[in-house]
Amino acid sequence: MIQESRFVVHDLPSCRGSWRQAFGGDGPLYVEIGMGKGRFLMDMARLHPDIFFIGIEKYSSVLLRAVQKLEEEELPNVRLIRMDAEDLESVFAPGELDRIYLNFSDPWPKDRHAKRRLESRQFLARYDKILKAGGEIEFKTDNRALFDFAVEEAKEAGWDIKELTYDLHQDPGLNEGNVMTEYEERFSAQGNPICKYVIGRGGAHEKEISGR
Ligand code: SAM
Repeated sequence: MIQESRFVVHDLPSCRGSWRQAFGGDGPLYVEIGMGKGRFLMDMARLHPDIFFIGIEKYSSVLLRAVQKLEEEELPNVRLIRMDAEDLESVFAPGELDRIYLNFSDPWPKDRHAKRRLESRQFLARYDKILKAGGEIEFKTDNRALFDFAVEEAKEAGWDIKELTYDLHQDPGLNEGNVMTEYEERFSAQGNPICKYVIGRGGAHEKEISGR
């Protein structure tokens, strides 16, 4: 099913630097890393038909669920890749992406695994290469320890915190137009506040921190 689906891209080297041509347009290119079953990605793609969305997922068994949904709905502005995000630079050219979404990333709680966290300085260095100037990263989680780590890593690595909240759903400004992920719906229903940051490089200002 994954092999056969026209929504799943396998010939990654030939797309590097040509993702917009692959989609057949020149719109912005947004990527969700660790998209799981793809609910957020597809909801976003439906809302924003002029933006190209690429979902990245490490495990075929999880990706398959997204493929099944896409085969039913056929969103032309979506493509999926099965890969480990460690290899992002072999798939995207320098400055090729407009935005990266990290939603409810795996926490890797042991210190010795910190560099596997998708918000670590090691991953931020990868994102730095493939994001265009002015490009942004959005991260949501209910895991406060992971969020605190992510904020520290972003500051250490010289990124600007453009937006930040410790309780997204109670923050009228940031919550406006918020598209919930599968995990976000599950954990907020359990009463967990959702943390979110938006980071970028250069020329940004730190906004007032809400919901602490
Ligand atoms: N983003 C979805 C959501 O918010 O509902 C799913 C969150 S789930 C906790 C995290 C997903 O990230 C899993 O499906 C996992 O396989 C994927 N993932 C974790 N590390 C990854 C990596 N290095 N590269 C690609 N996907 C990864």
